[in-house]
Amino acid sequence: MSKKVQKEEMKKLAKELLIPRTSGCYQTDEKTMKKANDYCEEYKAFMDASKTERESVETAVAMAEKKGFVPFDPEKEYAAGDKVYVNNRGKSLILAVIGEKGCKEGVKIAAAHIDSPRLDLKPHPLYEKDDLALLKTHYYGGIKKYQWTAIPLSMHGVVIRKDGTKVDVRLGEKAGDPQFCVTDLLPHLGAEQMSKTLSKAIEGENLNILVGSVPLGDEDTTDAVKLHVMKILHDRYGITEEDFVSADIEFVPAFKATDIGFDGSMVGAYGHDDRVCAYTALTALLKTEKPENTSIVVLADREEVGSDGNTGLNSEFMRYFIADLAQAENLEPRHVLSRSKCLSADVSAAFDPTYSSVYEAANSCYINGGVGIMKYTGSRGKSGTSEATAEFMAEVRALFEKNDVLWQTGELGKVDIGGGGTVALCIANLNVDVVDVGVPVLSMHSPFEIVSKLDVYMTFRGFKAFFCDKD
Ligand code: MN
Ligand code: MN
Repeated sequence: MSKKVQKEEMKKLAKELLIPRTSGCYQTDEKTMKKANDYCEEYKAFMDASKTERESVETAVAMAEKKGFVPFDPEKEYAAGDKVYVNNRGKSLILAVIGEKGCKEGVKIAAAHIDSPRLDLKPHPLYEKDDLALLKTHYYGGIKKYQWTAIPLSMHGVVIRKDGTKVDVRLGEKAGDPQFCVTDLLPHLGAEQMSKTLSKAIEGENLNILVGSVPLGDEDTTDAVKLHVMKILHDRYGITEEDFVSADIEFVPAFKATDIGFDGSMVGAYGHDDRVCAYTALTALLKTEKPENTSIVVLADREEVGSDGNTGLNSEFMRYFIADLAQAENLEPRHVLSRSKCLSADVSAAFDPTYSSVYEAANSCYINGGVGIMKYTGSRGKSGTSEATAEFMAEVRALFEKNDVLWQTGELGKVDIGGGGTVALCIANLNVDVVDVGVPVLSMHSPFEIVSKLDVYMTFRGFKAFFCDKD
């Protein structure tokens, strides 16, 4: 055999036996890239409209109602193709399309979360110090605190006034709105601060938000700047200082979602984790008409703090909903659950060449590699996670192959370097087959996260295949 022939033979063999290690862009075509680009235009609009879990529920309900979804009534009988939703306290949402076979062979679930790391107000937030008015915050979720100083913030949420009336708050997003900010120390005076470790340099108790500087009244007025801020809030929202006690107010980055890179191939935004999987799962379900099995999207709250609470997936709200569906068909809920399948829809860490030492290159997800499938997450010796069986991995892999969904697989960094979890185990513990599937993200949990448009689109295609696949 000549050297040239031998080389050709080896090339052929490698193609047959090995995984290609090239950018997913080589494995797709221009038409698909264009579709990905168009899909992300609407995704960016969704992100700008949905910066908190409450806003995400509101946007999702509006999108779903346009497609014929109605509030679920457990007393009612539903037929194949019917579309329903359950709004759980305005903070989490379940949507379902009833299948031709209903629940009898199990349901298909895509579960994403719509809460993201942020700064929440404390119950007594407003104070004045040295002629400046500030708000005390308690951060929510895993953040690198130094990333939250010196960036523009906007205010979102609800306040329930003493008389029980509710006021929606959204300030800092429209042109002309004021914005807010956590201050940081100038480098000239920061020598001592900069000698500390990153985790100590900015302390949680110092994440105070600057909200005013001009006093009201004369020099004899005490806390005149604070009073001025409270008067503005009262004029605008009709609230008093005590009303903060019954409020859910979140400060989030005021940035808009925007294209990243000279080629515009990526999207930068606050809260891709996990609204990118929420959006892709939701839009896939909205395109699902009469699936074989009843298909469900869960948009959960509280994932970033461990999924506890009545709007998180450690609570029973999803199980109760599936029980209602099962009982309507005279089925035992546990039998429905044991036959059900779930894509736990959450982002993964994209390989970052600048910080390559924490990743294991062969087992990482890459930008433009397509939707990531994670067999397990967790930390240390696979603690704090469920793990998909080989059988279920095979099923999902085959499903994606069959439907031209570009996919990849990876772990969250090197062994023992760190780790993380998702809602996968909450659902797996109900005796459902679960695997983690989602979009790889750069700068995860920072105020400005990055995803690739191709990966976002492929994740949408993956969920659509999951719901619509018929054997
Ligand atoms: Mn997540
Ligand atoms: Mn997260």
